[in-house]
Amino acid sequence: MAGVKTAVLSDVHANLEALDAVLDEADCDAVIVLGDIIGYNADPQAVIDRLTGMQARCIAGNHDLALTGRFNVDWFNDVAADAIRWTAGQVDDSAFETLGRLEPVERTGSQVLVHGSVRDPAAEYLRNAAAAAVSFSAADFSVAFFGHTHIPAAYAREDERVRELFLSPEGETLELRADVRYLLNPGSVGQPRDGDPRASYLILDGDRVQWRRVPYDVAETQRKIRATDLPPVLADRLSVGR
Ligand code: ZN
Repeated sequence: MAGVKTAVLSDVHANLEALDAVLDEADCDAVIVLGDIIGYNADPQAVIDRLTGMQARCIAGNHDLALTGRFNVDWFNDVAADAIRWTAGQVDDSAFETLGRLEPVERTGSQVLVHGSVRDPAAEYLRNAAAAAVSFSAADFSVAFFGHTHIPAAYAREDERVRELFLSPEGETLELRADVRYLLNPGSVGQPRDGDPRASYLILDGDRVQWRRVPYDVAETQRKIRATDLPPVLADRLSVGR
């Protein structure tokens, strides 16, 4: 991957304003999306079209799987389930085909992409070093990128020990070492949940990883949600990043 600057995104959740702000700022050669392309926000079709048009490399999240009949909506909370049902009436057949082809895990060489965790790519929330340790043992990889929690995070496994690398609110840069294994979460583009409403993502440039935050027009995204039958709480939460 030397020389290729890749933007790693997750949990875009049909938020077009946040996606465009990220793509503008990232200015990358390639884009990876770790699933949950749709759900929660008001622009599912436009977001799918944008990512398809730029040939982004996408995997499926639990929301994408639910929309395409491969994840039981009964496992979702009411708000998330309502958003899936609303989304189903907003996208065209090719969008169903596009999302229906995606799996929640993909592997290239020693790099793994998952939505939730390496142990359970569709559903597990990887939130602490103990869960990270299980995923480090679940497959042989040097770097795995994951999302699903909507919170940026990094875990390292070195000499059999797993630790969480604490990320500063912005601009954290990590130099990947060949003798250390990593699990890296870019945070969420379309619905951050760490108390910072700005879109979160990361840039992978050779062995360097940088987490970034980008402001976007939250008010416009909220206006679009409130103009639909989506639950209004989905608009409210974007202001506070929860
Ligand atoms: Zn999500």
